[in-house]
Amino acid sequence: MSGHVKIPGSIYCKLCKECGSRPVIAAVEDIGYVVKCPKDNGHYQTMPGLIDIEDWNHNNTITSSSTDYNTNHLIAW
Ligand SMILES: [Zn+2]
Repeated sequence: MSGHVKIPGSIYCKLCKECGSRPVIAAVEDIGYVVKCPKDNGHYQTMPGLIDIEDWNHNNTITSSSTDYNTNHLIAW
């Protein structure tokens, strides 16, 4: 299990939506790289290939909080 690379703090990336870990970049032999959770392979990871932090961010975006707020606001109203 070698080849994990920490993503520099200067690069914007979401935390894992399952456990809150900052993702790492892992090399996949002969294929390329994945952006993945360092804690659990079952958490979201990008498709092997180019380093796709945008895809990671997209799939680890939690939108429920703002939605809940709007919903509550509408119900109260
Ligand atoms: Zn995780």
